Amino acid sequence: MANNICVIGGGAAGMFAAVAAAECGAKVSITEHNEKLGKKLFITGKGRCNFTNGCDTTGLFDNIVTNSKFLYSAIYGYDNYMVRDYFESRGLKVKVERGERMFPASDKSSDVIKVLENDIKKLGIDVFLKKNAEDILPEDDGSLRVSFSDGTKEKYDRVILCSGGVSYPSTGSDGSGLKIAEKLGHKIVNPIPSLVGLTCREEDVKSLQGLSLKNISITLMQKNKKLDNIFGEMLFTHYGVSGPVILTASAKYGRRLEKEEIKGYIDLKPALSKEKLDERVLRDFKENANRDFVNAIGGLFPSKLIPVIVKRSGIDEHKKVHDITKEERERFVNIIKAFEITIDGFRNFDEAIITKGGVSVKDIDPSTMQSKLVSGLYFAGEIIDTDALTGGFNLQIAWSTGHLAGICAAE
Ligand SMILES: Cc1cc2nc3c(=O)[nH]c(=O)nc-3n(C[C@H](O)[C@H](O)[C@H](O)COP(=O)(O)OP(=O)(O)OC[C@H]3O[C@@H](n4cnc5c(N)ncnc54)[C@H](O)[C@@H]3O)c2cc1C
Repeated sequence: MANNICVIGGGAAGMFAAVAAAECGAKVSITEHNEKLGKKLFITGKGRCNFTNGCDTTGLFDNIVTNSKFLYSAIYGYDNYMVRDYFESRGLKVKVERGERMFPASDKSSDVIKVLENDIKKLGIDVFLKKNAEDILPEDDGSLRVSFSDGTKEKYDRVILCSGGVSYPSTGSDGSGLKIAEKLGHKIVNPIPSLVGLTCREEDVKSLQGLSLKNISITLMQKNKKLDNIFGEMLFTHYGVSGPVILTASAKYGRRLEKEEIKGYIDLKPALSKEKLDERVLRDFKENANRDFVNAIGGLFPSKLIPVIVKRSGIDEHKKVHDITKEERERFVNIIKAFEITIDGFRNFDEAIITKGGVSVKDIDPSTMQSKLVSGLYFAGEIIDTDALTGGFNLQIAWSTGHLAGICAAE
């Protein structure tokens, strides 16, 4: 007889797991505590849904930050090209943008959700909305009893827990699934916000709020150890820093930042060596020899940075440029090549694109997504302790693990 499967959570992973299991002939239901399916999926990619990436498989693994090896079976079994084929074969027109990011050609995440909802309907999957799963209890006969907040209890052969992480809790991922998993004995790796803005200690950094910098590089150091050098765009905010290079930094070094602050040295002119920059500054100084220092440096960087850099240089803003000493100029050049910030924390889960942490991969069989502790219980998506950089990779994790859990639970 076909397995009776309960999928908890109707996000990307849950919907995909349900479809895969039903295609294998299982009797499947989705329980979702929101009033509709795919609430987070709807807001992905700023409402456009960057649903996967067109890079090769090595590229996929390179962009997975935590536990990429755990995902080998899931991704090799259902990779990004298969995801693209899945959606295209169901009528979704797809386009590829910068960095091989794949979007629906319509720029509407709702079109991705529609494809999944059509399949859910076609396959006869029961959908229970506004229904919250509270508990899972293994029974002596090998089945799993799920308790719901409305007081009902149901027995299932298999349960796939796809309740997401803890980020953007307004979309429904409130961490309740992690509590269920923990109660059943699974180790939960401490969830922290990731792909998120980072707070800075310096007050003058906060005064730069709204300033966006393109083509900078940032060197990250912790206790005199160089962690990385990341090139791209960043943004100053009222709390510190954000933008692409900072989101990447939060994903790659979040666990380190949890323990100790990280120094960032922003190179505002990465295309120029220190010597070349010095020549350029010298040229500017020669052309503006009789002007005040503060009025001679406008060509070097955005005006918002001028008061901050002048202050940090220790040079009197009204000092005539011809009076600036070689040492002072050197200090000024050093600040431009290494504008120091002290990163001391994350913004919270409300603003984090993903959660780092979750159910430990040590408690999950990577070839099936089944719990090693509770027979018949499977996991998929962000609830698992894996996460990736931006570019469609987090949704790829949800599709790949959802598919694997779905077909294995249906067996
Ligand atoms: C603003 C934003 C933009 C993003 N953009 C992208 C992007 O463009 N590309 C990309 O790859 N990734 C993106 N992500 C990340 C991506 O959305 C997630 O990684 C992905 O949605 C995870 O899917 P999931 O199914 O595991 O979890 P979710 O999508 O969070 O789904 C979990 C579902 O479970 C339900 N649920 C939870 N607990 C219970 C319970 N106890 N009972 C019943 N239901 C429950 C929730 O309501 C929710 O619907 C973005 C995230 C955010 C916040």
